[in-house]
Amino acid sequence: MSHINRMSGLTHYKTLNPALKIPKQVLHMQNRVCSHTGRRDFTSIPALICGSAVRRWWSKSILPETRQRLKDIAWTYRLAITATITAGLCLIGTFLSFHTELDPWTNLWRLFILSDRTIEVNADEQVAYILGVMGKCCLLETEHPTYKRVAGVTSRLLNANAKVDEIRKRHWSVVVLKHPAINAFVMANGFIFVFSGLAAVANDDQLSIIVGHELAHCVLRHWNHYTSVKLVINVWMVLVSAVLSIALPFRQALAAVAMCKIVFHLCVGLPTQRSHETEADRVGLELAANACIDVTQGYKFWETLYKANGPSTRIWWLETHPTDKTRAQHLYSLIPATVELQKQAGC
Ligand SMILES: [Zn+2]
Repeated sequence: MSHINRMSGLTHYKTLNPALKIPKQVLHMQNRVCSHTGRRDFTSIPALICGSAVRRWWSKSILPETRQRLKDIAWTYRLAITATITAGLCLIGTFLSFHTELDPWTNLWRLFILSDRTIEVNADEQVAYILGVMGKCCLLETEHPTYKRVAGVTSRLLNANAKVDEIRKRHWSVVVLKHPAINAFVMANGFIFVFSGLAAVANDDQLSIIVGHELAHCVLRHWNHYTSVKLVINVWMVLVSAVLSIALPFRQALAAVAMCKIVFHLCVGLPTQRSHETEADRVGLELAANACIDVTQGYKFWETLYKANGPSTRIWWLETHPTDKTRAQHLYSLIPATVELQKQAGC
């Protein structure tokens, strides 16, 4: 049975059951030091069905002379139709521009369509699910030395970065999962999940950098941005599906839509996720640097994993996360800048 304690601004979850069993759904939610959640999208299916119905109606249900008359009408009003479509596209562009913000951490214009509160409510539901299924088996007790260590590292990071609004104003929670995976992930509502396997192999400085990475995902509002990007892609795919199913036979339209989705996934979805990980590595290292930890430990952690696991056999552009080697190189390149930050912070 789990319960909650409050200490040093953190919420602690506890279980006394030592059994080890993590549901696949939970493991699916994270991928090598945190990730976004992924759900299958079927929003294009109604558009495909409707488009096919229109295509059938057009080719079979109306007389040839009626069809020709409709074509003539469309040609007569072609300017009005073009103007309507243009106005619609302008409206969409205006809507998107009103939901684009300059992110101060990355200096990039980012799309944030949903409110942060909506994203957090969704995260609350997911966290409740995780705690519900894992509360009976896999949550490390708050008195456990590993839990105290992770909570201590997190408290140190939060205190050192209290000047950061996104950190000071949020309620953070730490959950340690009793599992040998070398992993951690964070939810948009500030719940940081650390696997005991990670705590076992990482020293305090490395753990600080990993937790800093998780904090950075929230600070950078990555869920909101990713969800917004996916929302735009989904809406776009509904329109594309409708047009394709009107223009092509159903099976060809289905294949074309599937191809479009794969292209969007490879060209937008996965690159967005990888860029989020790279950003979180940088900002997380900066947050950890403010806590005066040894910033060289970041690249050493990933280098150790890289050497232990060997070269990745996976294709990098099919992955949601950069390779261990790439992360090690990136963190190594950030050392001079973060050391300078530490000098300014009086470390
Ligand atoms: Zn991450």
